[in-house]
Order: sequence, then structure tokens, then C-alpha cells
Amino acid sequence: AAKEAGKGRVVEHDPKRRAGQLTKFQVAMQLPGLVERGELALVYQPLVRLDSGAVHSVEALLRWNHPTMGSLSPDMFIRIAEENAAILPIGRWVLDRACEDMAVSAWPAVNINVSVRQLYSPQFVDDIRRALDLAQIDPSALRVEITESVVMNLDDPEPVAVLDQLTGLGVRLVMDDFGTGYSNLAALRRLPWHELKLAGAFLESTRAGRAWNPTDQRILATLVDLAHSIDLLVTAEGVETAEQDQQVRSIGCDVGQGWFYARPAPVSSSAIVVSKPRTPPQRRSGTAPNTA
Ligand code: C2E
Ligand code: MG
Ligand code: MG
Ligand code: MG
Repeated sequence: AAKEAGKGRVVEHDPKRRAGQLTKFQVAMQLPGLVERGELALVYQPLVRLDSGAVHSVEALLRWNHPTMGSLSPDMFIRIAEENAAILPIGRWVLDRACEDMAVSAWPAVNINVSVRQLYSPQFVDDIRRALDLAQIDPSALRVEITESVVMNLDDPEPVAVLDQLTGLGVRLVMDDFGTGYSNLAALRRLPWHELKLAGAFLESTRAGRAWNPTDQRILATLVDLAHSIDLLVTAEGVETAEQDQQVRSIGCDVGQGWFYARPAPVSSSAIVVSKPRTPPQRRSGTAPNTA
């Protein structure tokens, strides 16, 4: 998010802080033409099956290669792009590029993040169909991630119809960041979800090196059970340590994603161009699987 506080200040020695000081206004001014200027890039992060170590899918994560600010995280600009129509060409670019990359890689599937604004675009389903056709990808290999907080506001019939059409094509629906919003379980029933991603925030207490609160742990295990009972596959996001890997296993998660398994990397990276499931990791390994 653009921080008003740092407006007008230039911090030469700290690129990260400098990037944080792009104002919302500057971002909004520079968003139009981003696609045409070729400043967007995708990095990919695998989702790993916890039982076998096989790659379940890879998630496409957007980066803005800003001419002066360097690589910007979507947190810096996606929300601003969503406030105007800029998200539409950006979203279309992400879709096309992710499908192209999927076609030339040996990934089993690719996940893209989709903004609610795209679900209101009458073209969206056609865009998806066209991208799948062009890249000759099986629809089930494309997964659309939608953030939980956004799904809660889907009261209109249009976006719900769009999501129904998508699943009708065979595209899979993934609820992202579950647990950061209202975690409304009723919303799970309103749409044809296939997968659920537990927000990395759930791991916050363990991140600080503290033991996992047993009550939190029981609640999470119950949540995972519930998801399984309605045939949802559960991914744990933001897994950074071997300890967290054990914890998400202990509550029954099916899939893990996070720096412990692999960092997001460009499509050319050997780490994510995996032709088939690699040797499953040892049952209990103290070190992260090699991501180099
Ligand atoms: P998200 O979909 O929940 O993606 C996960 C974020 O967690 C990514 O941040 C990823 O780099 C980061 N991450 C992965 N492993 C770890 C870990 O072990 N620890 C920690 N602390 N973080 C980890 P990123 O790439 O900055 O993306 C942020 C958010 O921006 C995404 O959250 C997603 O909501 C949004 N986004 C990304 N790409 C797109 C896109 O193409 N379109 C739209 N509309 N939104 C996007
Ligand atoms: Mg996501
Ligand atoms: Mg997420
Ligand atoms: Mg997130």
C-alpha cells in the first residue's frame, strides 16, 4: 500500500523503503499502459503435496518491474489497480502469460489470482476460454484463486454466474487467504469451490518461535476436517520452517506452500520446471528441500 507518511521523501540508501514511498497518486498515474510498456512479470511458486512431495500446482504471482523502483510486489499496486479499470488489462495479461508459461512447462496446473472486478467483466469467461484454447491447456489445469474477504461481498448474481460458468468449463476454484476475513463457512456452500488455502497468518504464533496454542491448533484441525468433509483440498500458505511444515501436517493439510518448500521464481528457474514428481522428501527432514 502506498504510504502517505513517506510522501516526498527520498531515501537513497534503502531501496525497499524508497519503493514503499511511491505514492498512491504516482502508482495510479503509472498504471495505464503498464502492459504495453512491458513492465509486468510473473514469478511462480509451487504448491507441494505434503504426502508425496510432488508439485500439485504452481501459483503465478505478479511483479511490476518499475523503471526506477525495481521489482514491486502486488501489495503495492493491485488494490489501486482494482479501484479503476487498470486491473482488467493487467488481469488479462496475467491470464495469457500464465497459460503460455503453463503450456511450455511441465507443471501439472497453474493458479492465477483474480480480482473481483474481473468477475464483473462480461468478457472474462471468453478471455479464459480463449487463453485455454490458445495454449491448449486442459481447463482443469487452470485454477482461479479468489480472496476470501472478496468472496464474502459477492451478493450480486453476475459474479456468481461467472464463477459457475468457469467451473462449468472445468476450471477449478480456489478460496485464497481463508481465515483473514470473516471465515464465513456458509460462503463455502454458495460457490463450487474445489480448494481452500489457509492464510499464512494462522502460522503467525509459530513464526515468532512460540509453541502453537493448543486451542488454535484444535480449531484449525476441525476446520481442515470440515473442509475435507465437503471435498475441499486444503493448502497451508506461508510455511517458512520445518516446524511449521510439521504443524500443518499435524492438522491434516494436504498441500503446503511457502519459502520452506520454494520461493517464487521466474518461469525459467529449474526449481519450478519439474517434469514429474521428484523423489518424495524424507518423512522427517530437518532441512528445506533444495529449491536451487
Ligand atoms: P496471495 O495470493 O495470498 O499470495 C501469497 C503471497 O505470500 C505472495 O506474496 C507470496 O510471495 C508470499 N509468500 C509465499 N511464501 C511465503 C512465506 O513462506 N512467507 C511469507 N511471509 N510470504 C510468503 P506476493 O507475491 O507479494 O503477492 C501478494 C498478494 O498479491 C497475493 O497474495 C495476491 O492476493 C495478490 N496478487 C499476486 N499476484 C496477483 C495477480 O496476478 N492478480 C491479482 N489480482 N492479485 C495478485
Ligand atoms: Mg493467491
Ligand atoms: Mg493467499
Ligand atoms: Mg495474500
